[in-house]
Amino acid sequence: MIREPRPQDFDFHCHSTASDGSLTPAELVARAAACGVRRLALTDHDTLAGLPQARHSARDAGVELVTGIEWSVQWQGRELHLLGLGMDAGCQALGELEAEQQQARRLRAHRIGSRLDRATGLGDSYERAAELAGTNAPGRPWFARVLVGAGHARDMNHAFTRFLRQGQCAFVRTPWVELERAARVVREAGGVPVLAHPVRYGLTRRKLRQLLAALCEAGGGGLEVAMPGLNANQQGLLDECLRDFPLCASGGSDFHSPEQKWLELGRLPDFPQGADTVLERLERAA
Ligand code: AMP
Ligand code: MN
Ligand code: MN
Ligand code: MN
Repeated sequence: MIREPRPQDFDFHCHSTASDGSLTPAELVARAAACGVRRLALTDHDTLAGLPQARHSARDAGVELVTGIEWSVQWQGRELHLLGLGMDAGCQALGELEAEQQQARRLRAHRIGSRLDRATGLGDSYERAAELAGTNAPGRPWFARVLVGAGHARDMNHAFTRFLRQGQCAFVRTPWVELERAARVVREAGGVPVLAHPVRYGLTRRKLRQLLAALCEAGGGGLEVAMPGLNANQQGLLDECLRDFPLCASGGSDFHSPEQKWLELGRLPDFPQGADTVLERLERAA
């Protein structure tokens, strides 16, 4: 029997305007509180920049804010996402890795811009995306918005399939941090590394298990098993992985914008019965 999403009092995966979300950190925390979320991790892509504003707003709203980030990492030549949860934001190694990843994002954004200029004739793709994002390291969703706005794609998804995703003309291979090092830095900062949305990489069961073995080998962590949109097979696969590997269970909506009508902050399926959860692990660490 599939466990359906329902309102929970936690959400350990979401995005603000500090990366590619559409709500400011303050708006996001307020929305989470209104949804009944008492423990929230803001996990912007490769940045902690939203944290001060989120903290401030969390104090007012009575929400417990867990320090979070979503690293873009590489493993066996694939691009994957690794969450860091419950870190000490002042840790030096964390700040260093954040700076490196931002530098990689800046270089990548310039290269994406040049390629899109060539493909579309726009001439200022980078500048437009940077302006929209409000940073000099705009991620692909901002380029997608530029493409939609200029009439080169029908919607965001079309912009990705036509230009931005792997195999398309504006995909730029990026030297993201290795999975093992990102996991080490998260643990060094007192946090738990968690493999994000494990079913979204198109991995076979065998490859996924190899990946989880590598994460365990590199010191362990967690697996995001409570997420919206899973079918029965996927939920079964993740439950099985959780039984077979010494990883804790995490959960999050990956909320980016209220326009994603099919998901909401804190709307998640229950954890499988008896799972060791990241909530307990963070409590033990505190
Ligand atoms: P980046 O971090 O720059 O590599 O961009 C990846 C982000 O793009 C993901 O975190 C999603 O938020 C977004 N994304 C990926 N694929 C799509 C898609 N097909 N349509 C809309 N957004 C997407
Ligand atoms: Mn995103
Ligand atoms: Mn992700
Ligand atoms: Mn995410």
